[in-house]
Amino acid sequence: MKGIALLGASGSIGQNTLRVLELYRDRFKLIGVSVHMNVEMLFEIEKKFNPSIAVITSQKEPPGKLKAKVLKGVDGLIELAENPEVDIVVVATAGTIGVFPTIKALQCGKRVALANKETLVSFGPFVKKVWDETEGEIVPIDSEHSALFQLIEGRKKELDRLIITASGGPFRDWPKEKLENVTPEDALKHPTWRMGRKITVDSATLMNKGLEVIEAHYLFDISVDKIEVLIHPQSVIHGMLKLKDGAFLAHMSVPDMKIPILYSLTYPDRLPLPIVKPLDLIEYKKLEFYKPDYDKFPALRIAYESINEGGTVPAVMNGANEVAVHAFLDGRIKFTDIPRVIESVITSHKKGSGNTIEELVEADRWSREEATRIIENLYR
Ligand code: NDP
Ligand code: MG
Repeated sequence: MKGIALLGASGSIGQNTLRVLELYRDRFKLIGVSVHMNVEMLFEIEKKFNPSIAVITSQKEPPGKLKAKVLKGVDGLIELAENPEVDIVVVATAGTIGVFPTIKALQCGKRVALANKETLVSFGPFVKKVWDETEGEIVPIDSEHSALFQLIEGRKKELDRLIITASGGPFRDWPKEKLENVTPEDALKHPTWRMGRKITVDSATLMNKGLEVIEAHYLFDISVDKIEVLIHPQSVIHGMLKLKDGAFLAHMSVPDMKIPILYSLTYPDRLPLPIVKPLDLIEYKKLEFYKPDYDKFPALRIAYESINEGGTVPAVMNGANEVAVHAFLDGRIKFTDIPRVIESVITSHKKGSGNTIEELVEADRWSREEATRIIENLYR
Protein backbone atom coordinates (compact mmCIF):
# COMPACT_ATOMS: atom_id res chain seq x y z
CA MET A 1 0.00 0.00 0.00
CA LYS A 2 1.48 3.36 -1.09
CA GLY A 3 0.46 6.61 0.58
CA ILE A 4 -0.31 9.39 -1.89
CA ALA A 5 -0.34 13.18 -1.53
CA LEU A 6 -2.14 14.86 -4.42
CA LEU A 7 -1.29 18.54 -4.80
CA GLY A 8 -3.68 20.37 -7.14
CA ALA A 9 -6.46 17.80 -6.70
CA SER A 10 -9.10 20.12 -8.19
CA GLY A 11 -7.27 20.61 -11.51
CA SER A 12 -7.28 18.66 -14.74
CA ILE A 13 -4.35 16.41 -13.75
CA GLY A 14 -5.67 16.21 -10.19
CA GLN A 15 -9.07 14.94 -11.30
CA ASN A 16 -7.51 12.39 -13.65
CA THR A 17 -5.31 11.21 -10.79
CA LEU A 18 -8.37 10.69 -8.57
CA ARG A 19 -9.94 8.52 -11.29
CA VAL A 20 -6.80 6.39 -11.39
CA LEU A 21 -6.66 6.13 -7.58
CA GLU A 22 -10.30 5.04 -7.52
CA LEU A 23 -9.39 2.04 -9.67
CA TYR A 24 -6.66 0.82 -7.36
CA ARG A 25 -7.91 1.40 -3.83
CA ASP A 26 -6.12 -1.81 -2.82
CA ARG A 27 -2.72 -0.33 -3.78
CA PHE A 28 -2.95 3.38 -3.05
CA LYS A 29 -4.24 5.33 -0.06
CA LEU A 30 -4.90 9.04 -0.51
CA ILE A 31 -3.34 10.63 2.58
CA GLY A 32 -3.78 14.27 1.65
CA VAL A 33 -4.83 16.67 -1.09
CA SER A 34 -4.49 20.35 -1.91
CA VAL A 35 -6.84 22.76 -3.66
CA HIS A 36 -6.52 26.48 -4.32
CA MET A 37 -9.87 28.24 -4.99
CA ASN A 38 -12.12 25.21 -5.37
CA VAL A 39 -12.54 24.46 -1.65
CA GLU A 40 -15.99 22.91 -2.26
CA MET A 41 -14.26 20.04 -3.99
CA LEU A 42 -12.70 18.97 -0.67
CA PHE A 43 -16.12 17.69 0.44
CA GLU A 44 -16.51 15.57 -2.67
CA ILE A 45 -13.02 14.15 -2.26
CA GLU A 46 -13.67 13.48 1.43
CA LYS A 47 -16.79 11.47 0.59
CA LYS A 48 -14.89 9.22 -1.80
CA PHE A 49 -11.38 8.97 -0.32
CA ASN A 50 -11.46 10.26 3.23
CA PRO A 51 -7.93 11.78 3.23
CA SER A 52 -6.63 12.83 6.65
CA ILE A 53 -5.10 16.12 5.44
CA ALA A 54 -6.57 18.91 3.27
CA VAL A 55 -4.37 21.83 2.24
CA ILE A 56 -5.88 25.11 1.02
CA THR A 57 -3.34 27.31 -0.77
CA SER A 58 -5.62 30.34 -1.30
CA GLN A 59 -7.13 32.57 1.41
CA LYS A 60 -10.50 30.81 1.08
CA GLU A 61 -12.14 28.95 3.95
CA PRO A 62 -14.10 25.70 3.51
CA PRO A 63 -17.88 26.38 3.61
CA GLY A 64 -18.44 23.77 6.36
CA LYS A 65 -16.63 21.39 8.72
CA LEU A 66 -14.20 18.92 7.15
CA LYS A 67 -13.15 15.70 8.83
CA ALA A 68 -9.60 16.15 7.50
CA LYS A 69 -7.02 18.29 9.28
CA VAL A 70 -6.84 21.58 7.34
CA LEU A 71 -3.43 23.09 6.57
CA LYS A 72 -2.78 26.37 4.79
CA GLY A 73 -0.54 27.74 2.08
CA VAL A 74 2.87 26.64 0.95
CA ASP A 75 3.77 25.54 4.50
CA GLY A 76 0.78 23.20 4.34
CA LEU A 77 2.05 21.69 1.08
CA ILE A 78 5.49 21.17 2.60
CA GLU A 79 4.05 19.60 5.77
CA LEU A 80 1.96 17.21 3.67
CA ALA A 81 4.97 16.31 1.48
CA GLU A 82 7.00 15.32 4.53
CA ASN A 83 4.20 13.40 6.28
CA PRO A 84 5.65 9.93 7.01
CA GLU A 85 2.53 8.19 5.68
CA VAL A 86 3.14 9.71 2.23
CA ASP A 87 5.32 7.72 -0.19
CA ILE A 88 4.52 9.52 -3.46
CA VAL A 89 3.85 13.23 -3.87
CA VAL A 90 1.89 14.03 -7.04
CA VAL A 91 2.74 17.64 -7.88
CA ALA A 92 -0.11 18.82 -10.09
CA THR A 93 -0.59 22.40 -8.88
CA ALA A 94 -0.38 25.19 -11.41
CA GLY A 95 2.41 27.74 -11.00
CA THR A 96 5.73 27.98 -9.21
CA ILE A 97 4.46 26.91 -5.76
CA GLY A 98 5.05 23.26 -6.78
CA VAL A 99 8.80 23.57 -6.32
CA PHE A 100 8.68 23.78 -2.51
CA PRO A 101 6.87 20.47 -1.78
CA THR A 102 8.98 18.89 -4.55
CA ILE A 103 12.21 19.84 -2.80
CA LYS A 104 10.88 18.63 0.56
CA ALA A 105 9.75 15.29 -0.89
CA LEU A 106 13.16 14.75 -2.52
CA GLN A 107 14.93 15.61 0.72
CA CYS A 108 12.75 13.01 2.49
CA GLY A 109 13.80 10.40 -0.12
CA LYS A 110 10.32 10.13 -1.65
CA ARG A 111 9.02 9.83 -5.17
CA VAL A 112 7.75 12.97 -6.84
CA ALA A 113 5.27 12.23 -9.63
CA LEU A 114 5.78 15.51 -11.42
CA ALA A 115 3.21 17.19 -13.66
CA ASN A 116 3.96 20.81 -12.71
CA LYS A 117 6.25 22.29 -15.37
CA GLU A 118 7.45 25.35 -13.50
CA THR A 119 9.32 23.21 -10.97
CA LEU A 120 11.96 22.25 -13.53
CA VAL A 121 11.59 25.12 -16.00
CA SER A 122 12.09 27.89 -13.44
CA PHE A 123 14.05 26.13 -10.72
CA GLY A 124 15.91 23.52 -12.80
CA PRO A 125 19.49 24.25 -11.65
CA PHE A 126 18.49 24.09 -7.97
CA VAL A 127 16.04 21.16 -8.15
CA LYS A 128 18.61 19.13 -10.10
CA LYS A 129 21.17 19.74 -7.35
CA VAL A 130 18.76 18.59 -4.62
CA TRP A 131 17.70 15.59 -6.71
CA ASP A 132 21.37 14.55 -7.24
CA GLU A 133 22.20 14.92 -3.56
CA THR A 134 19.22 13.01 -2.13
CA GLU A 135 17.60 9.58 -2.33
CA GLY A 136 14.41 11.04 -3.79
CA GLU A 137 13.29 10.37 -7.35
CA ILE A 138 11.31 12.26 -9.98
CA VAL A 139 9.00 10.31 -12.28
CA PRO A 140 7.45 12.58 -14.92
CA ILE A 141 3.71 12.76 -15.63
CA ASP A 142 3.83 15.09 -18.62
CA SER A 143 3.01 12.69 -21.47
CA GLU A 144 6.08 13.43 -23.61
CA HIS A 145 8.45 13.04 -20.67
CA SER A 146 6.71 9.92 -19.44
CA ALA A 147 7.19 8.48 -22.94
CA LEU A 148 10.88 9.42 -23.02
CA PHE A 149 11.38 8.19 -19.44
CA GLN A 150 10.08 4.77 -20.47
CA LEU A 151 12.21 4.67 -23.63
CA ILE A 152 15.49 6.00 -22.31
CA GLU A 153 16.14 3.73 -19.35
CA GLY A 154 19.42 1.87 -20.04
CA ARG A 155 19.76 3.46 -23.50
CA LYS A 156 21.53 6.74 -22.90
CA LYS A 157 24.77 5.51 -24.49
CA GLU A 158 22.92 4.51 -27.68
CA LEU A 159 21.27 7.89 -28.06
CA ASP A 160 21.62 10.30 -30.95
CA ARG A 161 18.71 12.60 -29.97
CA LEU A 162 15.40 12.90 -28.12
CA ILE A 163 12.27 13.85 -30.03
CA ILE A 164 9.33 15.52 -28.31
CA THR A 165 6.13 15.64 -30.34
CA ALA A 166 3.64 18.52 -30.40
CA SER A 167 0.10 18.54 -31.73
CA GLY A 168 0.83 21.97 -33.20
CA GLY A 169 -2.17 23.47 -31.41
CA PRO A 170 -5.31 24.96 -32.98
CA PHE A 171 -3.40 27.43 -35.22
CA ARG A 172 -1.08 24.98 -36.94
CA ASP A 173 -2.68 25.67 -40.34
CA TRP A 174 -3.58 29.32 -39.83
CA PRO A 175 -1.65 31.92 -41.84
CA LYS A 176 0.69 34.01 -39.69
CA GLU A 177 -1.26 37.25 -40.36
CA LYS A 178 -4.44 35.80 -38.85
CA LEU A 179 -2.76 35.16 -35.48
CA GLU A 180 -3.00 38.88 -34.54
CA ASN A 181 -6.77 38.45 -34.20
CA VAL A 182 -6.93 35.17 -32.25
CA THR A 183 -9.45 35.31 -29.38
CA PRO A 184 -9.10 33.45 -26.05
CA GLU A 185 -11.97 31.26 -27.21
CA ASP A 186 -10.03 30.25 -30.36
CA ALA A 187 -6.90 29.52 -28.31
CA LEU A 188 -8.79 27.38 -25.78
CA LYS A 189 -9.92 24.92 -28.48
CA HIS A 190 -7.14 22.35 -28.29
CA PRO A 191 -7.37 19.74 -31.06
CA THR A 192 -6.35 16.66 -29.05
CA TRP A 193 -5.89 17.24 -25.29
CA ARG A 194 -8.29 18.49 -22.56
CA MET A 195 -6.25 20.53 -20.07
CA GLY A 196 -6.27 23.60 -17.83
CA ARG A 197 -6.63 27.05 -19.49
CA LYS A 198 -3.08 28.30 -19.07
CA ILE A 199 -1.41 25.21 -20.53
CA THR A 200 -3.96 25.17 -23.39
CA VAL A 201 -2.89 28.68 -24.40
CA ASP A 202 0.76 27.59 -24.06
CA SER A 203 -0.02 24.77 -26.50
CA ALA A 204 -1.42 27.29 -28.98
CA THR A 205 1.71 29.51 -28.83
CA LEU A 206 3.98 26.40 -28.73
CA MET A 207 5.48 27.76 -25.49
CA ASN A 208 4.26 24.51 -23.94
CA LYS A 209 6.75 22.64 -26.15
CA GLY A 210 9.45 25.12 -25.22
CA LEU A 211 8.77 24.44 -21.53
CA GLU A 212 8.93 20.71 -22.29
CA VAL A 213 12.32 21.01 -24.01
CA ILE A 214 13.63 22.68 -20.85
CA GLU A 215 12.05 20.03 -18.61
CA ALA A 216 13.55 17.25 -20.75
CA HIS A 217 16.99 18.84 -20.51
CA TYR A 218 16.91 18.67 -16.70
CA LEU A 219 15.05 15.37 -16.38
CA PHE A 220 17.29 13.37 -18.67
CA ASP A 221 20.52 15.36 -18.39
CA ILE A 222 20.68 15.79 -22.16
CA SER A 223 22.14 18.84 -23.89
CA VAL A 224 19.53 21.06 -25.52
CA ASP A 225 20.95 20.64 -29.05
CA LYS A 226 20.03 16.95 -28.79
CA ILE A 227 16.36 17.67 -28.05
CA GLU A 228 14.17 18.15 -31.09
CA VAL A 229 10.50 19.12 -31.45
CA LEU A 230 8.38 17.56 -34.16
CA ILE A 231 4.80 18.55 -34.98
CA HIS A 232 2.59 15.47 -35.00
CA PRO A 233 -1.09 16.50 -35.22
CA GLN A 234 -2.56 13.11 -34.22
CA SER A 235 -0.81 13.12 -30.77
CA VAL A 236 -0.41 9.34 -30.90
CA ILE A 237 3.39 9.24 -30.63
CA HIS A 238 4.38 11.19 -27.52
CA GLY A 239 8.15 10.83 -27.60
CA MET A 240 10.86 9.15 -29.64
CA LEU A 241 14.50 8.27 -29.33
CA LYS A 242 16.65 8.48 -32.41
CA LEU A 243 19.50 6.04 -31.83
CA LYS A 244 23.10 6.17 -33.10
CA ASP A 245 22.48 3.61 -35.84
CA GLY A 246 19.56 5.61 -37.25
CA ALA A 247 16.86 3.43 -35.66
CA PHE A 248 13.95 5.13 -33.85
CA LEU A 249 12.04 3.97 -30.77
CA ALA A 250 8.62 5.53 -30.23
CA HIS A 251 6.07 5.51 -27.41
CA MET A 252 2.45 5.46 -28.59
CA SER A 253 -0.89 5.69 -26.83
CA VAL A 254 -4.18 7.53 -27.03
CA PRO A 255 -3.83 11.10 -25.73
CA ASP A 256 -5.12 10.50 -22.20
CA MET A 257 -3.20 11.70 -19.13
CA LYS A 258 -4.46 8.79 -17.02
CA ILE A 259 -1.89 6.57 -18.76
CA PRO A 260 1.23 8.53 -17.70
CA ILE A 261 -0.35 9.29 -14.30
CA LEU A 262 -0.81 5.58 -13.50
CA TYR A 263 2.72 4.78 -14.67
CA SER A 264 4.21 7.52 -12.47
CA LEU A 265 2.56 5.82 -9.48
CA THR A 266 3.39 2.20 -10.35
CA TYR A 267 6.84 2.50 -12.01
CA PRO A 268 8.76 0.19 -12.44
CA ASP A 269 5.61 -1.96 -12.55
CA ARG A 270 2.80 -1.52 -15.06
CA LEU A 271 -0.88 -2.15 -14.33
CA PRO A 272 -3.95 -2.45 -16.58
CA LEU A 273 -6.00 0.71 -17.16
CA PRO A 274 -9.48 -0.50 -18.16
CA ILE A 275 -11.03 3.01 -18.03
CA VAL A 276 -9.02 4.13 -21.09
CA LYS A 277 -9.85 2.77 -24.53
CA PRO A 278 -6.57 1.52 -26.00
CA LEU A 279 -5.08 2.87 -29.21
CA ASP A 280 -6.66 1.59 -32.40
CA LEU A 281 -4.12 2.32 -35.13
CA ILE A 282 -6.53 1.34 -37.90
CA GLU A 283 -8.79 4.19 -36.79
CA TYR A 284 -6.00 6.73 -37.38
CA LYS A 285 -5.06 5.63 -40.91
CA LYS A 286 -2.10 8.04 -41.05
CA LEU A 287 0.42 9.62 -38.73
CA GLU A 288 1.95 12.90 -39.90
CA PHE A 289 5.10 14.80 -38.91
CA TYR A 290 6.18 18.36 -39.67
CA LYS A 291 8.98 20.70 -38.67
CA PRO A 292 7.79 23.46 -36.30
CA ASP A 293 7.46 26.95 -37.80
CA TYR A 294 9.68 29.13 -35.58
CA ASP A 295 8.70 32.25 -37.46
CA LYS A 296 4.97 31.78 -36.88
CA PHE A 297 5.49 30.53 -33.29
CA PRO A 298 8.37 32.58 -31.84
CA ALA A 299 7.72 31.28 -28.29
CA LEU A 300 9.43 27.99 -29.11
CA ARG A 301 12.53 29.81 -30.37
CA ILE A 302 12.53 32.00 -27.23
CA ALA A 303 12.42 28.89 -25.04
CA TYR A 304 15.41 27.33 -26.81
CA GLU A 305 17.35 30.60 -26.49
CA SER A 306 16.45 30.85 -22.79
CA ILE A 307 17.71 27.40 -21.87
CA ASN A 308 20.86 27.96 -23.93
CA GLU A 309 21.44 31.06 -21.81
CA GLY A 310 20.57 29.05 -18.69
CA GLY A 311 20.86 30.37 -15.10
CA THR A 312 17.94 32.60 -14.20
CA VAL A 313 16.79 33.18 -17.81
CA PRO A 314 14.28 30.26 -18.07
CA ALA A 315 12.70 31.40 -14.76
CA VAL A 316 12.32 34.90 -16.18
CA MET A 317 10.88 33.56 -19.41
CA ASN A 318 8.38 31.40 -17.54
CA GLY A 319 7.23 34.20 -15.20
CA ALA A 320 6.77 36.64 -18.09
CA ASN A 321 4.90 34.02 -20.12
CA GLU A 322 2.48 33.29 -17.27
CA VAL A 323 1.65 36.98 -16.80
CA ALA A 324 1.26 37.49 -20.57
CA VAL A 325 -1.00 34.43 -20.97
CA HIS A 326 -3.32 35.66 -18.20
CA ALA A 327 -3.39 39.16 -19.76
CA PHE A 328 -4.35 37.56 -23.08
CA LEU A 329 -7.08 35.48 -21.44
CA ASP A 330 -8.43 38.65 -19.77
CA GLY A 331 -8.55 40.41 -23.16
CA ARG A 332 -5.83 42.94 -22.23
CA ILE A 333 -3.28 41.98 -24.90
CA LYS A 334 -3.29 40.23 -28.27
CA PHE A 335 -2.23 36.62 -28.80
CA THR A 336 0.82 37.77 -30.74
CA ASP A 337 1.81 40.11 -27.89
CA ILE A 338 2.57 37.10 -25.67
CA PRO A 339 6.02 36.37 -27.19
CA ARG A 340 6.69 40.11 -27.59
CA VAL A 341 6.17 40.70 -23.87
CA ILE A 342 8.39 37.72 -22.97
CA GLU A 343 11.22 38.94 -25.22
CA SER A 344 11.07 42.47 -23.82
CA VAL A 345 11.30 41.13 -20.27
CA ILE A 346 14.24 38.84 -21.09
CA THR A 347 16.07 41.69 -22.86
CA SER A 348 16.01 43.84 -19.73
CA HIS A 349 16.99 40.99 -17.38
CA LYS A 350 20.47 40.79 -15.83
CA LYS A 351 21.24 37.06 -15.85
CA GLY A 352 22.26 35.28 -12.65
CA SER A 353 23.68 31.77 -12.11
CA GLY A 354 20.42 30.37 -10.68
CA ASN A 355 22.32 28.23 -8.20
CA THR A 356 20.24 29.20 -5.19
CA ILE A 357 16.50 28.97 -4.73
CA GLU A 358 16.43 32.58 -3.47
CA GLU A 359 17.96 33.88 -6.70
CA LEU A 360 15.47 31.91 -8.83
CA VAL A 361 12.49 33.03 -6.72
CA GLU A 362 13.66 36.64 -7.08
CA ALA A 363 14.10 36.25 -10.88
CA ASP A 364 10.56 34.87 -11.09
CA ARG A 365 9.17 37.73 -8.98
CA TRP A 366 11.04 40.39 -10.96
CA SER A 367 9.93 38.99 -14.32
CA ARG A 368 6.26 39.10 -13.30
CA GLU A 369 6.57 42.69 -12.13
CA GLU A 370 8.40 43.67 -15.33
CA ALA A 371 5.88 41.84 -17.56
CA THR A 372 2.98 43.57 -15.75
CA ARG A 373 4.65 46.94 -16.27
CA ILE A 374 5.25 46.29 -19.98
CA ILE A 375 1.65 45.10 -20.48
CA GLU A 376 0.23 48.17 -18.72
CA ASN A 377 2.19 50.43 -21.07
CA LEU A 378 1.39 48.48 -24.24
CA TYR A 379 -2.00 50.00 -25.10
CA ARG A 380 -1.82 53.31 -23.24
P1 NDP B 1 -5.51 23.24 -13.87
O1 NDP B 1 -5.57 24.69 -14.07
O2 NDP B 1 -6.59 22.37 -14.39
O3 NDP B 1 -5.37 22.91 -12.29
C1 NDP B 1 -4.44 23.57 -11.49
C2 NDP B 1 -4.49 23.06 -10.08
O4 NDP B 1 -3.60 23.84 -9.28
C3 NDP B 1 -5.86 23.18 -9.42
O5 NDP B 1 -5.98 22.21 -8.44
C4 NDP B 1 -5.78 24.59 -8.80
O6 NDP B 1 -6.65 24.72 -7.69
C5 NDP B 1 -4.36 24.59 -8.32
N1 NDP B 1 -3.81 25.95 -8.27
C6 NDP B 1 -4.08 27.00 -9.09
N2 NDP B 1 -3.38 28.08 -8.72
C7 NDP B 1 -2.66 27.71 -7.63
C8 NDP B 1 -1.75 28.40 -6.78
N3 NDP B 1 -1.43 29.69 -6.97
N4 NDP B 1 -1.21 27.73 -5.75
C9 NDP B 1 -1.51 26.42 -5.55
N5 NDP B 1 -2.36 25.71 -6.32
C10 NDP B 1 -2.92 26.36 -7.35
O7 NDP B 1 -4.08 22.79 -14.45
P2 NDP B 1 -3.64 21.38 -15.03
O8 NDP B 1 -4.13 20.27 -14.16
O9 NDP B 1 -3.90 21.36 -16.47
O10 NDP B 1 -2.05 21.48 -14.87
C11 NDP B 1 -1.39 21.40 -13.62
C12 NDP B 1 0.12 21.41 -13.85
O11 NDP B 1 0.46 20.26 -14.63
C13 NDP B 1 0.61 22.60 -14.68
O12 NDP B 1 1.89 22.99 -14.24
C14 NDP B 1 0.66 22.07 -16.08
O13 NDP B 1 1.62 22.75 -16.89
C15 NDP B 1 1.07 20.63 -15.85
N6 NDP B 1 0.66 19.69 -16.89
C16 NDP B 1 -0.67 19.52 -17.22
C17 NDP B 1 -1.04 18.64 -18.22
C18 NDP B 1 -2.49 18.41 -18.56
O14 NDP B 1 -2.77 17.56 -19.38
N7 NDP B 1 -3.43 19.10 -17.98
C19 NDP B 1 -0.04 17.88 -18.97
C20 NDP B 1 1.30 18.06 -18.49
C21 NDP B 1 1.63 18.94 -17.50
P3 NDP B 1 -8.17 25.33 -7.81
O15 NDP B 1 -8.76 24.74 -9.07
O16 NDP B 1 -8.79 24.80 -6.56
O17 NDP B 1 -8.08 26.80 -7.84
MG1 MG C 1 2.97 17.58 -22.57
